[in-house]
Amino acid sequence: MSEPHRLPSPIVNAENQAFWQAAQEDKLILKLCHACKQVHYYPRTICPHCGSNDTTWVSSEGLGEIYSFTVMRRGVEFPFAMAYVLLKEGISLLTHLTNCDFNEIRIGQKVKVVFQVTQDGQNTHLFEPLN
Ligand SMILES: [Zn+2]
Repeated sequence: MSEPHRLPSPIVNAENQAFWQAAQEDKLILKLCHACKQVHYYPRTICPHCGSNDTTWVSSEGLGEIYSFTVMRRGVEFPFAMAYVLLKEGISLLTHLTNCDFNEIRIGQKVKVVFQVTQDGQNTHLFEPLN
């Protein structure tokens, strides 16, 4: 299914540069804190759970489920769906949903990450339902 809704380009900075570089290779990576053993998102140098700067990048399987979602239909040229996806790694991220019928999205639906290029050529992550 095509996605006429144009994705906004991410803002790349020193803290998230590796994240967006991985996205260019269709990879989702997360920050893991060695001090408290928790992952976090969005990527930060300082762990938001414990304040440690002993963090490293780890690969995500890119699998999760829809925690909540909204479908935007009014005032936009093309409808689009946004969701909080709860990853298997235990964190949630705000993302677009794609490759699905917006009328059939439901809470708890299993999804996986896919990547799509934005207006300026930067890949970004979206999620699509698992069959
Ligand atoms: Zn920590």
